[in-house]
This record gives sequence, C-alpha cells and structure tokens, in this order.
Amino acid sequence: MAIERTLSIIKPDGVKNNHVGEIIARFEKAGLKPVAIRRQQLSQAEAEGFYAVHKARPFFKDLVSFMISGPVVLMALEGENAVLKNRELMGATDPKKADKGTIRADFAQSIDANTVHGSDSLENAKNEVAYFFRETEIQG
Ligand code: ADP
Ligand code: MG
Repeated sequence: MAIERTLSIIKPDGVKNNHVGEIIARFEKAGLKPVAIRRQQLSQAEAEGFYAVHKARPFFKDLVSFMISGPVVLMALEGENAVLKNRELMGATDPKKADKGTIRADFAQSIDANTVHGSDSLENAKNEVAYFFRETEIQG
C-alpha cells in the first residue's frame, strides 16, 4: 500500500475542549504519524482561501466564522493509505450520522462544530498540506 500524506485540522471546538492529545493518540495508534504540526489562529483570509471550494454553499460564512473562532491545530499526517484512513477515523461530517468510536461521534457537537477536518482525496491532500506547510517544515 502507498505511503501518503494528508492534512488534518483539529478545529476550534476540539482545541477548546482539550481533545488535542486524544485525537493525536488515535492517529498514532492507527499508524498515522504527525510529520508536521502547528497550533495557530487562522485569519479570515486563510480560512476563506482554505475552504474556497465551498464558497457558493449556504454554510460558507458560518464555516469560516467558526474556523476563526479560536486556535486550530494543523497537521500533516503520514502513513499507509493516510487519506482514507484519516477519513475513517474522523467519521461522517454530521456527528449524528458518524459511526460509534469515530472522532466526530465521540467529540463533536454539531455539523458546524465537528472537531476535525481531513483531506478527501490524494490530490486535495497534496494541495491542502502545501497550503499550510512548506516542504522544509515536514520531516517524514
Ligand atoms: P467534511 O469536513 O466531512 O469533508 P465537507 O467538505 O462537505 O465535509 O464540508 C466542510 C465543512 O463544512 C464540514 O466539516 C462542516 O463543518 C461544514 N458543513 C458541511 N455541510 C454542512 C451543512 N449542511 N451545514 C452546516 N455546515 C456544514
Ligand atoms: Mg471536505
């Protein structure tokens, strides 16, 4: 299986509720190594740029406001099948529909405050990792 990199973001609710350690532990146990990591307050422009694909969606404004409501933790995760594995660990977008034992089922409050972001394809993963990290900041 291919070694991939994917972008994970622990969203403001996950940071505020002190779930950073538990979430990273789940990644490490599943074989996903944080090869770059940074805690950061996103600016409005950074959040809008990151979620530009959702610009036309009705929830775009609320999504951006939520993402800048407090610091986030940005991570590049590396491992076998990292993109899909991360999505499986996260669970469905709406925590009410997420499988038991997933991060969103266990920690998320709502579809807005759903604790984590994860890239949804290898191509998006490459772009999203590069959006936040320089290659020299990533040590595999
Ligand atoms: P995911 O984060 O699971 O990849 P999407 O890429 O579809 O989900 O959407 C990005 C984020 O926008 C979601 O994580 C969620 O916080 C928010 N979002 C998506 N759909 C809705 C919705 N119908 N209402 C409110 N917020 C939404
Ligand atoms: Mg998405």
